[in-house]
Amino acid sequence: MRMIIVGAPGVGKGTQAKRIAADMKIPHIATGDILRDAIRQGTPVGLKAKAFVESGGLVPDEVVVGIIEERFARGDTSGGWILDGFPRTSPQAQSLETLLTRLSQPIQAVVLLECPDSAILERITGRRSCPKCGAPYHVRYQKPRKEGVCDQDGTALVQREDDTEAKVARRLQKYHAETAAVVPFYEKKGLVRRVDASKSPDEVYRAVSAVLSRP
Ligand code: AMP
Repeated sequence: MRMIIVGAPGVGKGTQAKRIAADMKIPHIATGDILRDAIRQGTPVGLKAKAFVESGGLVPDEVVVGIIEERFARGDTSGGWILDGFPRTSPQAQSLETLLTRLSQPIQAVVLLECPDSAILERITGRRSCPKCGAPYHVRYQKPRKEGVCDQDGTALVQREDDTEAKVARRLQKYHAETAAVVPFYEKKGLVRRVDASKSPDEVYRAVSAVLSRP
């Protein structure tokens, strides 16, 4: 399966994409994760992206397009992939089309996760994750067995720098102003499958699986 998962920040793209990737045995390509890693490691890309990511803004298109081109050159993508957090602007969607045409790997599905902003704000400000293995948690909806600690490896959980209320508001505004514009682009191609993402992660996963098994 070659697919994109689209939706506002905090709608649950990462949680769903990780499960789909594990089930289908395809790479999960998340530009947000790649950027956070680059920032932690202080690479040239990380240095360019740091201020944009930490303020809740968007990293320039040429930087993220470069990341995606490099990622697809790695050779593990021929059997399918799931893109999460990319494309986020119309120019990114255009660049992706060019790349995928060159690779003869057309997109098969675009899953759009939908949820009201008010619910997203609550979800995202309560979000925590393990800095070691990336496992996602939530202080109310997906509590770890022991408060503040990862179930898998016992590492102390962290909150993302850009998950505070003011930054989430900025990210939602960016989503509506720029990212939502990629949806009609894929709708014209008949690729968009909408899913109500206001339910629990398990319910959303069942709905995502159902729309993906549709011919
Ligand atoms: P995410 O983990 O997908 O919410 O991404 C976190 C942050 O990384 C975003 O708020 C942006 O600053 C940056 N980012 C991730 N993907 C992109 C993208 N495709 N275009 C521009 N910025 C991005």
